[in-house]
Amino acid sequence: MRRFRTRRFSLIVIALLAVSLVSAGGASGAGRGAGTQRFYTTAGPLTERQVGDVLAHHHMFVELGAVPPVAYKTADREQVYSLLNPWLQDAKALGIGVFVETTPEGVGRRPDIVNYVADQAGLPTMLVTGIYREPFMPDWVFDASVDEIAAWMLEELRVGVGDTDVPAGMIKLSQNDTGMTLTERKVLEAGCIAARKTNAAILSHITSGPTALSVMDALEGFGCRLSKHRFIWVHSMFTAAAPGATLEGGRIGHDPGIDYLLAALRRGAYVSLDGVGSNYWGPTYGGYDVNIAWIEQFVAAGYEDQIIIGADTGWFDPGFPPGFKIIQLPDGSWVHDPADQPQYMQDYRSVPAEFVPAMRTAGFSEALIHKLMHSNPWHAYSR
Ligand SMILES: [Zn+2]
Repeated sequence: MRRFRTRRFSLIVIALLAVSLVSAGGASGAGRGAGTQRFYTTAGPLTERQVGDVLAHHHMFVELGAVPPVAYKTADREQVYSLLNPWLQDAKALGIGVFVETTPEGVGRRPDIVNYVADQAGLPTMLVTGIYREPFMPDWVFDASVDEIAAWMLEELRVGVGDTDVPAGMIKLSQNDTGMTLTERKVLEAGCIAARKTNAAILSHITSGPTALSVMDALEGFGCRLSKHRFIWVHSMFTAAAPGATLEGGRIGHDPGIDYLLAALRRGAYVSLDGVGSNYWGPTYGGYDVNIAWIEQFVAAGYEDQIIIGADTGWFDPGFPPGFKIIQLPDGSWVHDPADQPQYMQDYRSVPAEFVPAMRTAGFSEALIHKLMHSNPWHAYSR
């Protein structure tokens, strides 16, 4: 972190100056709805026509679990590229035009490596700014003010993520399922400031219905009206599958989990069903049948424009042993060697190669499938 911190703190000062200048001149991203929105990617800002079908929630590089993460600092970009390139070529062959890499600060983010891999593979990739929940957030966040965190996000949204010159497409956060901590609330307020100045969407990893609704309340209180500023509830399938909210003593609340998603949709949020076909999330959250049933329910309720689908698959973990590799079998599936290494590592096929045909079999119209693969992520993520 030290290498990044020095640069970040000096940039915070510069960015704070920039914030005051821009505030005086009005919001910089006032073009939303005027045909000037862009998808910010490693290949530059793209128009809607250039975007095509989207892998709307996936990962290339994450160091998950370690607090604080350390191995990411010395990762080798050539190893990441050689490992992921077959899967990225596969995604392109399946018609994917943009990969959305949703890894925020706090879980071993290496935007420079993702940028390199995306360029080499020729697959435009959206990067995000933002900070993961406690205890994964870097130390500097605890001492920083709301304005300093907002300035850091604004620098990443306007200049480049980390040490890259690729502006972030949006703001990715997370709050604990116990309810927001004070620091998570501070980060959320900073996210709202950055969203208001850039029109960037806020997406957040939340696995509790009550937390999701309280995050939405807080955003409204900070001045990010949900009718104007987009909020995407990431991993909402965890709550969709829950019988109800987890109460004190491990008891379960009266309202079924799905009602929290419907309440969020009614207020204008997007719900992200982003474990589709994922071995990590498993059949309870990622099964094609359960996801089709949820989508049918949301469409019937009139919310087909507010559904995001993804698989949350990938990814290179810098904790892999030397020589770790993936191999494609004759039937097209992939295995990794050694086989007892992370079982969650998974290609990017499930949504485009399997879930799209499953939706057709279930009777979804081509217009609805196009919304889920292109229009909804475009409207949710462009700015
Ligand atoms: Zn994810």
